[in-house]
Amino acid sequence: KTKIYHSLRSQVTLPPKNQPLSASEYAISLLRSSSLSLENTIAFIDSSFGTSLSYSDFIKQTESLSFSLHNRFGLKRGDSAFILTPASLQIPILYFSLLSLGVIVSPANPISTIPEISRQISLAKPVIGFATSVTSNKLPSFRHGTILVDSLDFKSMLTIQQPGRVNAQVVQTDTAAILYSSGTTGRVKGVELTHHNFISLTAGYDQVRAEPGEENPPHPIGLFTIPLFHVFGFTRILRAVALGETIVLMERFDFVAMLKAVETYKVTYAPVSPSLVVAMAKLDVVDKFDLSSLLLMTCGGAPLGKEVSEKFISRFPNVQITQGYGMTETTGAAARMLGPEETKRYGSVGRLSENIQAKIVDHITREAEPPGQRGELWLRGPTVMKGYFEDDEATVATLDSEGWLKTGDLCYFDTDGFLYIVDRLKELIKYKAYQVPPVELEHLLQSHSEIADVAVVPCPDEEAGQIPMAFVVRKPGSNLSGIQVMEFVAKQVAPYKKIRRVAFVSSIPKSAAGKILRRELIDVIHSTPSSK
Ligand code: AMP
Repeated sequence: KTKIYHSLRSQVTLPPKNQPLSASEYAISLLRSSSLSLENTIAFIDSSFGTSLSYSDFIKQTESLSFSLHNRFGLKRGDSAFILTPASLQIPILYFSLLSLGVIVSPANPISTIPEISRQISLAKPVIGFATSVTSNKLPSFRHGTILVDSLDFKSMLTIQQPGRVNAQVVQTDTAAILYSSGTTGRVKGVELTHHNFISLTAGYDQVRAEPGEENPPHPIGLFTIPLFHVFGFTRILRAVALGETIVLMERFDFVAMLKAVETYKVTYAPVSPSLVVAMAKLDVVDKFDLSSLLLMTCGGAPLGKEVSEKFISRFPNVQITQGYGMTETTGAAARMLGPEETKRYGSVGRLSENIQAKIVDHITREAEPPGQRGELWLRGPTVMKGYFEDDEATVATLDSEGWLKTGDLCYFDTDGFLYIVDRLKELIKYKAYQVPPVELEHLLQSHSEIADVAVVPCPDEEAGQIPMAFVVRKPGSNLSGIQVMEFVAKQVAPYKKIRRVAFVSSIPKSAAGKILRRELIDVIHSTPSSK
């Protein structure tokens, strides 16, 4: 009795898959089909500089940049571009230009270390880099060099008078982006997402317009504190353009600056991670700002506790808080809440997104389970990734021959089709919704001369959701301290990957095959009263 859950949303018609179309073209076609004035609607605001860009300028600059990148740098369909920059007005323009040329967009966290970046570059094989004068020294040389997006030269590429149109002939099955994720196990991999993946997601967003709501809702003004290199930010840019929203970008996340931006720009909604909801629900500084324009916060990337949602609602009774669930491997939201009724299901992550199917698979029997029963969530649909880039082994382990993606999340559905995430079965740690692959930290620690064995697991933390914790077996005679272990790692990784807690043990529990029994270590943390 195979139980497949289908999306309860109305089926979304997608453009025929064989129609040549890029994700950027599709988003702009939806924008153009709306009644908005492209001259008078602001597309993006850079809150660090107070500069802004209308939709008509956004489109013009995108076309101008595509022309230069194609003619001056020879960038063409199938090339890949590595991007290492904080959020700025230039980023959406750059993403849209590259997508329209069929150049694969591969953005990384600008605070990554050189070894982390080298790993990503070895996966995506870029021919060109885009950086700022601050981040460029972390990049190797590329065949077509590195372009600084904060340079005058870049600015001049945005404003060419009457650029010729580039006919890139992008087909939907072309790879649009390589984003990074460690998936359910091991080290970071390149997640290959096609134009069709992004188009399918964006088509679902078009439904938002048809959503029953107020008579005359205010023009949406979104504040993006989420990273644009992560699938959450990447897809939200496409969505914003498709729906003609105005987006306020922040170069660097700062809580007070964020509150100030809500007040200054009369922000109506913000996609956020759970740590931000926790801060909004708890911190006193929030009262110093006029946040009355804020109507909606959409939270995703990591679990948002029911209690936090309730605390938030009691402090901000006029702000709806919705949750979405997804993965890089599903091009973002595979389940989300839509409308005020669904929003009240605190603790759930909403219902399956348009055109998505799911199964709840029992770990032992491999049976697909009915509502109320827990198991691993498997997902299928047009937003599921093509695979891990040039990594068949990892792809086959995650995507089965029928197109089901194994999420590594322990979940159940209720009888109304709401999805609940119970636990994470996979190795992944999420620090403030950022991915921390434990295997990567274990590799680093194993290289320490005084460490005999080690395991890294998630430790619950109220503010960050989870923090990476190391269980360390010292070599005989070693007096290595916890601080030394933490410093050793901190020197080599981006700050969000730091080890923040250490316990010394005499051995690491392992299976007969030598696999670390992480669950046992996690249980140790949960049963230790002193653990936060
Ligand atoms: P990423 O690819 O970085 O988006 O990470 C995907 C993983 O984040 C999922 O497989 C979940 O483990 C976790 N995740 C994302 N959204 C949620 C959510 N709303 N609730 C619980 N876990 C989530």
